[in-house]
Amino acid sequence: PLTEADLVKEHRICVCVRKRPLNKKEATVKDFDVITIPNKDIVMVHEPKQKVDLTRYLENQTFRFDYTFDDSTTNEMVYSFTARPLVETIFEKGMATCFAYGQTGSGKTHTMGGDFSGKSQDCSKGIYALAAQDVFLMQKKPYYKKLDLQVYATFFEIYSGKVYDLLNQKTKLRVLEDGKQQVQVVGLQECEVKCMEDVLKLIEMGNSCRTSGQTSANAHSSRSHAVFQIILRRNGKIHGKFSLIDLAGNERGVDTLSADRQTRLEGAEINKSLLALKECIRALGRNKPHTPFRASKLTQVLRDSFIGENSRTCMIATISPGMASCENTLNTLRYANRVK
Ligand code: ADP
Ligand code: MG
Repeated sequence: PLTEADLVKEHRICVCVRKRPLNKKEATVKDFDVITIPNKDIVMVHEPKQKVDLTRYLENQTFRFDYTFDDSTTNEMVYSFTARPLVETIFEKGMATCFAYGQTGSGKTHTMGGDFSGKSQDCSKGIYALAAQDVFLMQKKPYYKKLDLQVYATFFEIYSGKVYDLLNQKTKLRVLEDGKQQVQVVGLQECEVKCMEDVLKLIEMGNSCRTSGQTSANAHSSRSHAVFQIILRRNGKIHGKFSLIDLAGNERGVDTLSADRQTRLEGAEINKSLLALKECIRALGRNKPHTPFRASKLTQVLRDSFIGENSRTCMIATISPGMASCENTLNTLRYANRVK
């Protein structure tokens, strides 16, 4: 298993994979696990040779990442290797981002927001909350205490290229870029948070706002990007910012065939934003002068996180274990592979 000694702190871009357990529903329809994580940085996909004969395997496809987490890994463990090292970045006047990327049902919200499967929603074990917890701890350290930093949070959603404030009844917001290329989400609620109780309240509020009025929580969340930000301010000015993003599901093949025009447009918008995201992260990793952030609303809003000396990012590619998800899983792994 992974230990503290495995933690690589230097790299600007960290890409890892998390496999979720096979669930009851999948077991009921006799789906089976085709993913092996033999060690801490390899993931293998065993793709059946023919769809009719599921017992015969094609050669295994192997991918290497910074870290790979098997289905017994807890959120805390995933957090400590992904978002946690980035908390320090924002105290050092940096910009940090952490993305959950993957198909709908693969565990993005479970990883970022927490466990919403039970009746009592528990968002205290999601990466949003775990990161906030460490921010408060760090703030109290003597070295940073002197800086007198204030902590704020925002929570918004990008749906079909439009921004909605999840802390303000889904108010639609405008995004403006000024002459100095600063991007601003006009009127976005920024709430000061002083303790974990404040943070958990905001996450719960934002989550319920995200799904309200929707027939199915997943139908909506699979088509929108949710962005939770922790902002450090000093004398009113931004000191550092941590953006934690639960991306829209990356399975969009069916959308292009849909008879519904709106569905096709939404699908195209999501494809565009995920492609733009990949290019922006790659540009960051290669210290390229040009970051194509204007290609989508998502990347435009995150512009200041993709530029600058002290920007770091982490991507958690979540995958489902089942044979039925094999194609989406391979797409997810290929995308994540290209981000590096
Ligand atoms: P997504 O947000 O990618 O659509 P979810 O996070 O909603 O997927 O996960 C789908 C279901 O699988 C949920 O019921 C969730 O509780 C469960 N799940 C996801 N990841 C895990 C995990 N690592 N361990 C246990 N259950 C998980
Ligand atoms: Mg989700």
